Amino acid sequence: MSDQANNNPSVQNGWVGETLHNDISFTFKVDKVLYEQKTEEWHLLLIENPQFGKVLMLDGITQVTSRDEFVYHEMMSHVPIFAHGNAREVLIVGGGDCGMAEEALKHKSINRLTQVEIDQSVVDFSKEHFSDFNAAVFIDPRFDLIIGDGAQFMAETDRKFDVIMVDSTDPIGPGAVLFTEEFYRHCYNHLTPGGILVTQSGVPFFQADEIITSVKHFSKMFKDASAYIAAIPTYIGGHMALGWASDEAGHRTIALQELETRFAASGIQTRYYTPEVHRAAFALPKFIKDAVEQGLA
Ligand code: SAM
Repeated sequence: MSDQANNNPSVQNGWVGETLHNDISFTFKVDKVLYEQKTEEWHLLLIENPQFGKVLMLDGITQVTSRDEFVYHEMMSHVPIFAHGNAREVLIVGGGDCGMAEEALKHKSINRLTQVEIDQSVVDFSKEHFSDFNAAVFIDPRFDLIIGDGAQFMAETDRKFDVIMVDSTDPIGPGAVLFTEEFYRHCYNHLTPGGILVTQSGVPFFQADEIITSVKHFSKMFKDASAYIAAIPTYIGGHMALGWASDEAGHRTIALQELETRFAASGIQTRYYTPEVHRAAFALPKFIKDAVEQGLA
């Protein structure tokens, strides 16, 4: 999450600071630099930290850590998939670490999980270094990986999806196109009736603009546009907002009992997601609700 990235992070005196915002920084103690590479798109840095385990940074911005990845990945995938109830064709845009794919593929109802990631190196690297959470993805025949720009894919594809999850980097560099009205319109056009779009929309305490703008864009085409929340320790500032858009408003207000039935039937084991957490995630603290309403105005 960033409002201004310095894309050349460096480890100094055994610490590396995330180039997160202009005026604050989350700094990690570095037990070990495990990997550092200039990829097609990014300066990729993997370090070992005593609290977070493996920490992946792209252009100085934390993407995923082995300790808290489950929060983000479970909430970004299980919430829309359980709410939908019958997702067969699912798309992830971005998601190079493949943690989102791992959670989504736990749903046996999914026939095909397509992932469009811009940088092959992030996938290759994550396959090697994050196998503790993504190993199952690479042996699952339903996993369909496309290397390319997600915005271009959405503009050109003739396929339709029941759920689209945008697991992007921040709205700077290659990720910026994934926050535009045009991209969301292409997503809209490639959802099946009643399909659901979810997006990573920043930490509203610091980056309210991200969710305001996303909801503003969503509301130009979707009948129901909103957000839900999760608290991810790595993404400092409290709650992260996850954008939510669908033409089927009932998906957002689905009854707890129905979620419990779907969750129990799935047999999926989770560490953060529960049907109660799912329902509660749509109860927005006032300042986040205000941001969503600003987007809808
Ligand atoms: N949860 C993470 C976060 O926001 O901190 C995001 C993790 S995931 C690693 C983000 C992925 O989006 C990266 O692998 C990056 O290469 C990919 N990405 C960025 N822009 C993209 C684009 N235009 N099309 C497809 N993938 C893109």
